[in-house]
Amino acid sequence: MPEPVVEMRAITKRYGDGLAAVTAVEEIDFELGRGEFVAIRGESGSGKTTLLQIAGCLDRPTSGTYRLDGRDVSRLPDRDLAQIRNRTIGFVFQSFHLLNDRTAIENVRLPLDYRRSGGDPPSDPTTVLERVGLGPRLLHRPSELSGGERQRVAIARALVKRPPLILCDEPTGNLDSKTGGEILDLLEAMQKEDAVSLLLVTHSEAVAARADRVLTMRDGRWVE
Ligand code: ADP
Ligand code: MG
Repeated sequence: MPEPVVEMRAITKRYGDGLAAVTAVEEIDFELGRGEFVAIRGESGSGKTTLLQIAGCLDRPTSGTYRLDGRDVSRLPDRDLAQIRNRTIGFVFQSFHLLNDRTAIENVRLPLDYRRSGGDPPSDPTTVLERVGLGPRLLHRPSELSGGERQRVAIARALVKRPPLILCDEPTGNLDSKTGGEILDLLEAMQKEDAVSLLLVTHSEAVAARADRVLTMRDGRWVE
């Protein structure tokens, strides 16, 4: 068995302290295999985004261990986390998070500007945009693109570094169901063709049904 991309043991995340303390994630064990697609569901406030932020090295757990791509990242300083994030993880968010004053190709190029040497060489931004069906939209700005097209730019931006892991927080939450289905088609194609691992938070039953595994969170824990 190859090592999983994500391996979490007893991950807990607490915000604040004293009476104001909130335990957002509690004693979570989780593994994501190479090339696997796992969907996470759960009501608002159940801890999904917190867990995804820890998986994405945007935050550290209060306790527990997290091995990402074979390396313990649970206690690394911000600087090291940022580097690992840049090399290992692509992010896709509900609200796209594109820079509005940049063209599609400039948005896709951005992660490469922050890149340090090491790891696989990146893909060519034009080629990735062509792959997501945006060859004719390279010089358009986000305001000149539909919601589905904006999310395709975000996917291209996530893929350009050729990361082993893509994290998606409600990637179809702002799209109609047909467009959302097309975005899922695209993510699935990338998962299969590039053997990329996909961890995706969604409210949608239709989206979750396409994953290899579906897990549900409630009050910071998995629902059995
Ligand atoms: P979900 O994504 O499932 O809606 P979140 O992970 O965003 O859930 O939130 C889980 C819980 O943690 C909620 O009770 C939320 O209010 C709390 N929480 C999230 N982020 C913070 C924060 N930065 N500071 C304090 N509490 C937070
Ligand atoms: Mg959330």
